[in-house]
Amino acid sequence: MITSNPTPWQPDAWQNQMRSAFRNPGDLLEHLGLKHLTPAGLAGFPMLAPRSFVERIVHGDPQDALLLQVLPQLQETEEHAGFVRDPLGETNSDQAFIKSPGLIQKYQGRALMITTPACAINCRYCFRRHFPYQQHRPRDRDLALAFLRRDASISEIILSGGDPLLMQDSELALLLASLAQIEHIKRIRIHTRLPIVVPQRITFELMQTLAESPAKVVVVIHSNHHQELNAETKNALDCLGQSGATLLNQSVLLRGINDNVNDLVLLSERLFEQGVLPYYLHLPDKVANTAHFYVDTDRGQALYGGMKSRLPGYLLPRLVREVAGDIAKREMSTEDLALVADPPANLPQALALTPAPAPHPDR
Ligand code: SF4
Repeated sequence: MITSNPTPWQPDAWQNQMRSAFRNPGDLLEHLGLKHLTPAGLAGFPMLAPRSFVERIVHGDPQDALLLQVLPQLQETEEHAGFVRDPLGETNSDQAFIKSPGLIQKYQGRALMITTPACAINCRYCFRRHFPYQQHRPRDRDLALAFLRRDASISEIILSGGDPLLMQDSELALLLASLAQIEHIKRIRIHTRLPIVVPQRITFELMQTLAESPAKVVVVIHSNHHQELNAETKNALDCLGQSGATLLNQSVLLRGINDNVNDLVLLSERLFEQGVLPYYLHLPDKVANTAHFYVDTDRGQALYGGMKSRLPGYLLPRLVREVAGDIAKREMSTEDLALVADPPANLPQALALTPAPAPHPDR
């Protein structure tokens, strides 16, 4: 139990952050001293950048790594062969990943719940920027819970979205209480970018809700660049840690944002200073309208080799790529590729790793 409130902000500070977020590229450019730049169209994906995140963007720098994550670019209107709306086949009826509205199961033993269509920030590279959220409404949650009750093989539920921490504390508490009644669910994993982009979201009420969960809580934050981590995120992550949650980070390797060894090493080091272990470094998915962020496998592996030479093992995230239909994320470290090239003859077919798809040429 948490008895005193260690958060330095008012309980509604995060809602104020959301209300005052930038939604217009022209306003954002003007705020950052870049009004001479012509804003690009939205390419069907609204802009959303909360003030707290924007305050970490370097004023006057059009190439800032945080700015490029949120500012619509002209390249988003280009079409590129192989870049599709649902690269992981999450909504492909042949793959049968959708178990009920709002519930996706790709891997054995765990299932992912779409808790809300909303995010606190719209990341231009998002792999779900085309996801049909209207078919996965929170009001159908009872169907998802009913499925989970029936399937005792599921021991872990992943709360995703959108961003699950955009739910009000009371709604989240209700969901956690419902999950707590399902005996075979042992772990609740929350995938969220809110502790990074709106640290004020980590309220005392949220800490208490997480601390009271009978299931073990894992919070996977999403930070791509060390510049995202400041004194406010440190406060938020300290508070999350006090709630008893295990804190991990996943990043996406993004061209022009973090595709250099120095920034990746600094990110791992700063995460650790803020109480978070690096977990995954994802090679980007081939999502329509995001080709300008793409980093191919060869380059990703070369960068990873550089990280490996400079970081202790516990600060090295796992380099992975998701491939539609695979039984697990595909490890992309060079050792694993050696296994891919020459799988042992006795490896069961279902577990045999197939060669990675031909890397897309760098653009
Ligand atoms: S917070 Fe996550 S789900 Fe939301 S836009 Fe960013 S990457 Fe996509």
